[in-house]
Amino acid sequence: MKMEELQKALNGRSLTVSTLPDKGRCFVTTRDFSPGEVIISQEPYVSVPNKNSSDSSCKCEWCFTSSNIKKCSACQVVWYCGSSCQKTDWKLHRRECQVLSKVDKGRIKSLTPSIRLMVKLYIRRKLQSEKVVPTTSTDNYDLVEALVSHMSDINEKQLVLYAQMANLVSLILKWPEGEISIKDIAVDFSKLACNAHTICDAELRPLGTGLYPVISLINHSCLPNSVLVFEGRLAVVHAVQHIPKGTEVLISYIETAASTMTRQKALKEQYFFTCTCPRCIKAGQWDDIKESAILEGYRCKDNRCSGFLLRDSENKGFVCQECGLLREKEEIKSIAYEVKSLSEKVSVCSPGNNTDAILVYKTIEKLEMELCHPFSISLMRTRETLLKIYMELQNWKEALAYCRLVIPAYERAYQGFHPLVGLQYYTCGKLEWFLGETDKAIQSLTKAVDV
Ligand SMILES: [Zn+2]
Ligand SMILES: [Zn+2]
Ligand SMILES: [Zn+2]
Ligand SMILES: [Zn+2]
Repeated sequence: MKMEELQKALNGRSLTVSTLPDKGRCFVTTRDFSPGEVIISQEPYVSVPNKNSSDSSCKCEWCFTSSNIKKCSACQVVWYCGSSCQKTDWKLHRRECQVLSKVDKGRIKSLTPSIRLMVKLYIRRKLQSEKVVPTTSTDNYDLVEALVSHMSDINEKQLVLYAQMANLVSLILKWPEGEISIKDIAVDFSKLACNAHTICDAELRPLGTGLYPVISLINHSCLPNSVLVFEGRLAVVHAVQHIPKGTEVLISYIETAASTMTRQKALKEQYFFTCTCPRCIKAGQWDDIKESAILEGYRCKDNRCSGFLLRDSENKGFVCQECGLLREKEEIKSIAYEVKSLSEKVSVCSPGNNTDAILVYKTIEKLEMELCHPFSISLMRTRETLLKIYMELQNWKEALAYCRLVIPAYERAYQGFHPLVGLQYYTCGKLEWFLGETDKAIQSLTKAVDV
């Protein structure tokens, strides 16, 4: 019944809900979409800002801004940037506030974003059933109910954790027994684990978590035709390539810049399925072996050679597939060990101590240039980190140098019109503008706009 209503709402958006034999429900286009075009957008059923451990700053409950925010004087838990956000959220927070105000002082710390999201989910469901909050064909609890939970795939340890969290939610809500069951809440936690989305800002930094039951119907591909971004709390799905009429809309649930083995592992662990996308079905074929060796493998002993390396048959080390040179196992091992211990060292570095961090990351970069293929993901990540630190230090010149190093790796790893590539061109253009390289800035910003 509810799916029929959803279908009606989608007709006007050139989409249809279809059921595939092994994938379940999915969205199929009923017209062509051009790259960049919005396919579908949705407000969250519920959302909650995350807590940053590094800085103690809180965020507005509604719009996630951190500037000029004030604590709700009644519950002392939730923050707002002003009366406009507070008013918009009031119908829900009014009930939530009553509940949160009664939580023992000692238990306030256990109000993690996941616990809060679940409390809000139950309150909103109740408000909709009492018709205090209206329901629509894309905003109703039936859609949440219909989400997959994968309860049978979850291990014992996780089940115990969900049961404890469910118990806490029930203690916070204090609803009579017939109205709420700890078992149901535990099932809902497993639903959130594979369906909730991380809400990010325009620069793709995480702000919070939201549940978007319509967006959750979109299936995964490691070579997606669409991408999910956020405009404030609104989830927006854009086409990243030309999508012909009658095609399934696909986004990626995971980091796509990774080898097939790494991607499959991530999907299995968090989403409990084996991906059969065009990239994954190539597993074990020459193209896929080569790609994995470039993304996660080593570089040739000869600095001028850009060949990729594979393990040799006698297990002595890794052989370049371009020029045939061998790199000894022991040599690779010792550099890899150095990188690992430096990474561990820098991860315990006190946040804010950027000058120390730069020295360590520069050393890591040097070692990785010796160790990894020039297009390897780990080298790309190290340079990304250096770019971030130089930006924080407002060292625009160094930042620009790293930005330019990251772009080719991004363009290779994120094909098509990926927002990360656009964002990188935007950063590059901004830096060039600051440094007075106006012509180059215009070129970079034009590319950013194109993406
Ligand atoms: Zn706000
Ligand atoms: Zn409050
Ligand atoms: Zn895949
Ligand atoms: Zn070589």
